[in-house]
Amino acid sequence: MSVTIGTAPERYDTVVIGAGVMGATTALFLAQAGMKVALVDRGVLFRAASGINAGTLTLHMTRAQLIPHAIRGREMWLDAERWLGEPVGAVSTHGLSLAFTEAEEALLRARAHVRSEAGAPIDVISARKALEIEPGLNPGLRAAASCALDGHIPSYRVGAAYARALKRGGVTLLEHSEVERIVTGDGSDHAIYLRERAHPVRAGRIVASGGAWLEKMLRWMGFPIPIRCLFNQLVVTEPMSKVMGSVISIANGLLSLKQFTNGSVLIGGGWQGEGTLEAGGTRVIPENLRGNVRLAQHVIPALRNAMVLRVWLGQEAETPDAMPLIGALGTDDSRFVIGSVHSGFTSGPYMARLLADRILGGAPDLRAFDPCRFTPPPPTKAGSLPPQSLLTGSS
Ligand SMILES: Cc1cc2nc3c(=O)[nH]c(=O)nc-3n(C[C@H](O)[C@H](O)[C@H](O)COP(=O)(O)OP(=O)(O)OC[C@H]3O[C@@H](n4cnc5c(N)ncnc54)[C@H](O)[C@@H]3O)c2cc1C
Repeated sequence: MSVTIGTAPERYDTVVIGAGVMGATTALFLAQAGMKVALVDRGVLFRAASGINAGTLTLHMTRAQLIPHAIRGREMWLDAERWLGEPVGAVSTHGLSLAFTEAEEALLRARAHVRSEAGAPIDVISARKALEIEPGLNPGLRAAASCALDGHIPSYRVGAAYARALKRGGVTLLEHSEVERIVTGDGSDHAIYLRERAHPVRAGRIVASGGAWLEKMLRWMGFPIPIRCLFNQLVVTEPMSKVMGSVISIANGLLSLKQFTNGSVLIGGGWQGEGTLEAGGTRVIPENLRGNVRLAQHVIPALRNAMVLRVWLGQEAETPDAMPLIGALGTDDSRFVIGSVHSGFTSGPYMARLLADRILGGAPDLRAFDPCRFTPPPPTKAGSLPPQSLLTGSS
């Protein structure tokens, strides 16, 4: 989308930094509620993790604590016309997670139990039943966990729908505008310095939604939270005749498979590559590529005839406890963060709606995602030690 860098108004109610699913959706809901919002990205809308992910809307891969959020996020994607103004090609299908060994079956049952306790409609079914649902599976499987709520989205197409929705909503989109520094003011006036712009953009509130680059943004705002970057690998095959209809994964989470309507099969599962966040380069690790493809061929033997078309890596953020960061930074209610959400594409729209609700004065339950859990408690009295309970964790 074209950008109005030189002429953009200089002051906004809220500036959102990072135009992936988290930032763009937060910006959209704030603008729909009447705020004057700018959405800033150093690149292009939906071109980082949010535009290149596997697009799986799965509960099998989601941490149990985030299942209710993933269910709501999945519903929002399927109903995108209502809040985004147009559908985004979300498909609702069945999801199967598979076990081939005794150890995998034990893991599968344990994980299915925890997730169904958290609200996911997951049942463990026999190998025979799984083969009835998905005849192309390796018949050597022992058991499967079956979930009626699964699906996928062509994530690379979603950015265009957001660009139209943001424009309709009146959000100023500043692309190719890298934030280099934030000077936080008195709680209602922050200065956001963009590369190659002499004057900062000013904002009453800031939302940091920088994905894998969040750590640096949080440091600018005085919140040093260590964030690990995962370089996730995805492989896509040339279109082939139908080999599967469900979204398929395996018990240990190291495989996800789906076939799009054009016949291409997308192979993922969190196999890692390498890269550097700042320089931006990524590198495929050949043995991880081979391992990922071999596992896919083991699960769906017809994939032995597949031709790999393309391999790529994308950056995903992870906090030390692998739980999201969503909420206010500090107590002045003018600096916020959203990111590091496991299976974040699935739950992204719902997480962003919660944050927008919080910024607009609502009280959604964000306690488990409070960014302040990583920051030290404020000092008690000058020079005094904190109570013993804080030092030892005992009461
Ligand atoms: C390969 C891969 C596969 C995945 N598969 C799935 C899946 O199947 N299902 C699922 O639910 N989730 C999946 N995920 C996770 C999901 O994609 C992410 O959780 C989600 O997209 C993160 O969104 P975000 O908005 O936080 O970050 P991003 O989409 O990464 O957006 C962050 C934005 O911040 C911008 N930015 C960074 N620094 C600056 C700066 N200084 N100034 C201005 N802008 C800046 C970046 O340019 C970027 O556009 C996958 C992730 C990857 C990488």
